[in-house]
Amino acid sequence: MNISIVGSGYVGLVTGVCLAELGNTVICLDNDKKKIGNLKKGIVPIFEPGLHELIASNVKQKRLKFTSNLKQAVHSSEIIFIAVGTPAMNNGEADHIGIENVARNIAINMPDYRLIVEKSTVPVETGEWVKHTIQNNIKGKIKFDVASNPEFLREGQAINDFMHPDRIVIGVESEKAKNLLVSLYKPLGAQLVITDIKSAELIKHASNSYLAAKISFINAISQICEKSGADVVEVAKGMGLDKRIGPGFLNAGIGYGGSCFPKDVDAFITISEKLGYNFELLKTIKRINQQMLEFFLQKIKNNLWIIKDKTIGILGISFKPNTDDIRNAPSLEIIKALQDEGAKVKAYDPQGAAKAKEILKGVAFCSDSYAVSKGADCLLILTEWDEFKELDLLKIKKLMRHPLVIDGRNIYDPVKLSKMGLKYIGIGRSANFKR
Ligand code: NAD
Repeated sequence: MNISIVGSGYVGLVTGVCLAELGNTVICLDNDKKKIGNLKKGIVPIFEPGLHELIASNVKQKRLKFTSNLKQAVHSSEIIFIAVGTPAMNNGEADHIGIENVARNIAINMPDYRLIVEKSTVPVETGEWVKHTIQNNIKGKIKFDVASNPEFLREGQAINDFMHPDRIVIGVESEKAKNLLVSLYKPLGAQLVITDIKSAELIKHASNSYLAAKISFINAISQICEKSGADVVEVAKGMGLDKRIGPGFLNAGIGYGGSCFPKDVDAFITISEKLGYNFELLKTIKRINQQMLEFFLQKIKNNLWIIKDKTIGILGISFKPNTDDIRNAPSLEIIKALQDEGAKVKAYDPQGAAKAKEILKGVAFCSDSYAVSKGADCLLILTEWDEFKELDLLKIKKLMRHPLVIDGRNIYDPVKLSKMGLKYIGIGRSANFKR
């Protein structure tokens, strides 16, 4: 099939390249001309494992192209995915101006039937607005369909998630739209959930909010663990083995961040309110998430006493491992709070440093974890990159001024670190636990 993807970010690029890999002819479009210029030269603007290679091979086989010319993209494609960003506004609502602009421009440039698919995460009823916008701007009596096909990929394992999804959600209003999307995704052999547009939109917000709820729930449990002397890792293991609960998203830590969960929880609270439902549960999930950052900062103060002039080493800036994405990463707020109190901050992230340098001022960026540890009064683990799990901790201990590790992701064993002579503070961990 001939397909266009409008918005070539984390979702758009992965969607585009994977659909090309399945044998379709795909145009990835973006209004950021610099990004498109770079992509044409083979420079991929984001770090996502395997993405660079897959783009190169599909470009070579002439199945993947990049453009800023929407007219050209709309003319050559029967299916057009909208994958532009939907960032949060100050009032918590997601900003849909990008979606509206794109819908209008697609309508103006449509030569004949087109299927326009919402891939971006949008609140329930957005499909109605997209339909109205296209209808109001279309020239003549051209037929079209709107569909919702929310994306569930996770950054850091996006290609695998796209190619092997747990399910593909397709919200449609016509047989034609349904058949097009069913044939497009047929090669993946995945379970399809074919439903109406509003339910598809809601599945995405409900899923992300549920996952955020699991994280906040285990984080709340971590507080009870700290107060009672239980160990949250043991509690999570015991809970997760229950098939009704499942082990995923039960890692206590400094809370969720990134470009999706905080924004999607906010947007879901706002849309629920607009629809006349006060979603108290979601508000609490959000509050617990914020509290985890405050508790973490308190742990640092409890152990360092005075923050001013202390050297604090940060391991991990990206909001999760295997990505360079630092949008809404908890690390940013923690670093800012420590700097506000006069700390000297050194940091290392395997992929996120370049983006972090653009927004974090006064941070000494280091080339590895050992350089961060040198002379540090305290080491903070803020992202659970695998390479941090493999560190030579005795070497770290020798390099640090004071061997204090505060682990916001619970990647280390408290007993092991204590035996090595490091002072170790995790989230909801009990040093009493003996394996
Ligand atoms: P992103 O910021 O990485 O990419 C969005 C791209 O859209 C940018 O390159 C931007 O330049 C482009 N863009 C914005 N307005 C445009 C316009 N009018 N015309 C053409 N291009 C335009 O965002 P993302 O992380 O890829 O997320 C996109 C959507 O997918 C969001 O709604 C997000 O919530 C959702 N989503 C994201 C993820 C994720 O893990 N990042 C997962 C599932 C769903």
